Amino acid sequence: MHADIDHIVLTEEQITARVAELGAEISRDYNQEPVLLIAVLRGAALFVADLARAIESPVEIDFMAVSSYGSSTQSSGVVRIIKDLEELIEGRHVLVVEDILDTGLTLKYLLKNLASRKPASLEVVSLLNKKGKQRVPISCKYVGFDIPDEFVVGYGLDYAERYRNLPYIGVLRPEVYSG
Ligand code: 5GP
Repeated sequence: MHADIDHIVLTEEQITARVAELGAEISRDYNQEPVLLIAVLRGAALFVADLARAIESPVEIDFMAVSSYGSSTQSSGVVRIIKDLEELIEGRHVLVVEDILDTGLTLKYLLKNLASRKPASLEVVSLLNKKGKQRVPISCKYVGFDIPDEFVVGYGLDYAERYRNLPYIGVLRPEVYSG
């Protein structure tokens, strides 16, 4: 385990198994209809890479980057699109791929924006969900894991751009924030 990690929340094995299950569920639901995965950078980059390989329906992948004003550990709800899609989504089945659903403010903004582009369907898959933290109701069709309200890193999730490459998801030692 990395020296900065206090404890592991989800092991690499747990993540691999759950991503395979999500892929199977999504493949069943879309039943060979083409699906456009829209991953939200940068946190969802690793998740979408694994999830796409677990889906049997024809898949395309596009990326969006948004920035939420505020500190790195707290969402402000004010969101700005930094990188928009390359693809037009009108009439297409869109599945937004998120790393973590916390207050839901980022996703709410994103979904409203995407819905205005008239996709045939618009659903969300989030690897993690901080249960009880949502400040706005979000309909997230696929959730990997419900986790407690702790700031987590690894498997794409960062603290100050670090730790994204950890194969597991864990909580940092308190002294890492103060140091
Ligand atoms: P929301 O708008 O739902 O509050 O926040 C969503 C974004 O905040 C996530 O996509 C992620 O970038 C960031 N975030 C929320 N909770 C965590 C966390 O526990 N760890 C990390 N690394 N980022 C988080």
